[in-house]
Amino acid sequence: MAATLRNFEPYIRYCRFLVMPRGAEEFTDTDDGVVIEYGEIRCRVMGHGGVLCGHKVGTRGALVTHVIKQHGLEVAHSDNEGRPSNIYLREVKEWYTNMMMEHDRQVAAETRAA
Ligand SMILES: [Zn+2]
Repeated sequence: MAATLRNFEPYIRYCRFLVMPRGAEEFTDTDDGVVIEYGEIRCRVMGHGGVLCGHKVGTRGALVTHVIKQHGLEVAHSDNEGRPSNIYLREVKEWYTNMMMEHDRQVAAETRAA
């Protein structure tokens, strides 16, 4: 769990979930490789059958290793690992917030349909 995000509620939920949040989408692919966000610990490589890998590790670094070794992909270099800037952190928090909100939205929609 990334220290800078450890009091951030959507991130705490993301880390505690037993499965991949439903709002999670496939890694963004760039010329430099896939983008792994700050603090990410779950693999978002799209597997067969349109299901995300979902493999969970302890740190972003371990996730980078997993993506390279298990999926044979390149990972885009991040300048924000050591001391993330406030602007970058704000974007990351928004990203986690949106993912968890989408999860809650989908679960609520299913509950209504049931
Ligand atoms: Zn994976």
